[in-house]
Amino acid sequence: MKAVFKNSLCHKHVLTVLASCLLSAGVIAAPNDAATLGQIRDSAMKDGWAFERLSDLTDLVGPRLSGSPGAAAAVTQVAEAMRKLGATVTLQPVKVPHWVRGEEKAELVDYAGRPAGITQRVVLTALGGSGATPAAGLTAPVLIVHSLEELQKRAAEVKGRIVLIDVPFDQEMADRGLAGPAYGPGATNRYIGPKMAADMGAAAALVRSVGGASYRLQHTGVTGLVDGARIPAAAVTIEDTLLMERLSARGPIKMHLTLTPQNLPDTDSFNVIADLPGSDKADEIVIVSGHLDSWDLATGANDDGTGVAGAMGVIATLKKLNLQPRRTIRMIAWMNEENGTRGGKTYFTVNQDKVGKHFAGIESDSGGGRPFGMISSVPPHAEKLFEPLVAALQPIGAGVFQRRDVAGAADLSPLEQAGVPVFEPLVDGHSYFNYHHTPADTLDKVDPADLQRHVAVMSSLSWFLANMDQPIGRSLKQE
Ligand SMILES: [Zn+2]
Repeated sequence: MKAVFKNSLCHKHVLTVLASCLLSAGVIAAPNDAATLGQIRDSAMKDGWAFERLSDLTDLVGPRLSGSPGAAAAVTQVAEAMRKLGATVTLQPVKVPHWVRGEEKAELVDYAGRPAGITQRVVLTALGGSGATPAAGLTAPVLIVHSLEELQKRAAEVKGRIVLIDVPFDQEMADRGLAGPAYGPGATNRYIGPKMAADMGAAAALVRSVGGASYRLQHTGVTGLVDGARIPAAAVTIEDTLLMERLSARGPIKMHLTLTPQNLPDTDSFNVIADLPGSDKADEIVIVSGHLDSWDLATGANDDGTGVAGAMGVIATLKKLNLQPRRTIRMIAWMNEENGTRGGKTYFTVNQDKVGKHFAGIESDSGGGRPFGMISSVPPHAEKLFEPLVAALQPIGAGVFQRRDVAGAADLSPLEQAGVPVFEPLVDGHSYFNYHHTPADTLDKVDPADLQRHVAVMSSLSWFLANMDQPIGRSLKQE
C-alpha cells in the first residue's frame, strides 16, 4: 500500500484514529483509487471558481496580445490568484514579439459595372506580423487565387498586385467532429501564403478568414512574413471574399487598402508558473497549462481563457480537497502562443537538463466546448494504465481516451519531441472556429457547465498522472 503523508503527526496515530487523520491531513492511502478520483470529479463539477477566474481574465483584463498592457495585467492577475490559493508562484521571463494593430480599412474602388461615385467597403483585419501601407493607403488591382499551387503557377501576374488567397473552411468537417483538420489548410495558407506573395513582389496579401459561420467577422492570426519583406497582409471576411469573387467574374477589380500596424522591438513578458508541490516525488513534474496571451480583437475567452482557467482550476480543486499529489503539479499560463510560441520555447531551454523529470504535460487550447475525454501521446503499451481514470470520467461523459503518436499542443511541443508524453482535453470544437481569433470570442460564448466538466477532466488527469506508479515515458520499450 502506498501512503502519502502530508502531516508527520499522523505517524503517531494508530488504526482507531486513522480515518479522521486521513481526512484532516490529506493522507491518501491509494491516491488513484476510484473513491479519490470520484471525489475530485464531483468537486470540480460543482465548483464555479474557474469560471470566476475566466470572468476576471476576459471582463477585467480583456485582450492579451504579447507585449500589450493586457498581457502584462493578465500575468499579474493570474499570479495573484495562484498565490492566494497557496501555490508557489514563479514568473519566468520571456522575450516576446511586439506587434501593434493600426488603422485597417479597404474598399473596392473600381470594378466592371460600377456606377459613378460608388465604392464597395471590404471588411478585413491585419494579420499578426503584417507590414504597413503608406498612411494614405495604396491602390492596386486584385489577383484572386484558390491555392498556394495556383499562386505559384501565376507568379508572373503577382508583381504590384494585391493577392487574395480564397480557400474555404470546411464547416461540415468541423460539424462532424473534425474541427482541427478543417482549420489546418486555411491556417497554413494564412501563414505561408503572404510570404510567398511578398517574395513574388505583391503589393499586399489577403486571405479569406479561416472559420465557419462568419456574420461578416474577420478572423485574424499570425502570418510568416519576415523583416525586409513585410508587405501589408490581412484577413477578409467570408462575405467580402465572396463579393470579390463575384465582381471579379464580371471583370478586373481594384482595391484601395490602408493598414498601419507596427512591428516594434521584442519586449519583456513572462510565463506564469504555479506549483502544487508533490510529496515523495516532488522533483518530478506534471505540467497542466493553457496560454495566457490572446489575439487583440476580442477578450480571448475560448482562445485560450478557458485553457488557463481550466489549468488554474486544477490547483484550486486539489487544494480545496486538501489533496497532495506525489509528483509536483505545475500550472503554467504560457505567454506568446499566438505569434511566436516564445513561452514554450523559453521554458524548454531553461529546463533542458530537467526534461527527464517531466513525467507528463497537459495543454488545453481547443476552446471551452464540452469535453469528451482526452488525447494523449503515451506509447501504445501505456494506454491500458489509464483504465481507472477513464472509468472515473465515464459518468460525466468524458471517458474517451484517444492515443496518437503526437498530440501536437503548441507550447509543449519541444518537451513532446524530447519524449515527454502530452495530453490535451478532447473537446467539442464544432463551433470553435466561429469565434476563434474574431471580435466575438467573448465570455458569453463559454458555457459554465462545460468549463466545470473541463476542470473535472483536467483535475482528474493531473492527479492521476501525478500519482502513477508505472512509467509512461516514450523512451521506454515495454511493448
Ligand atoms: Zn490558442
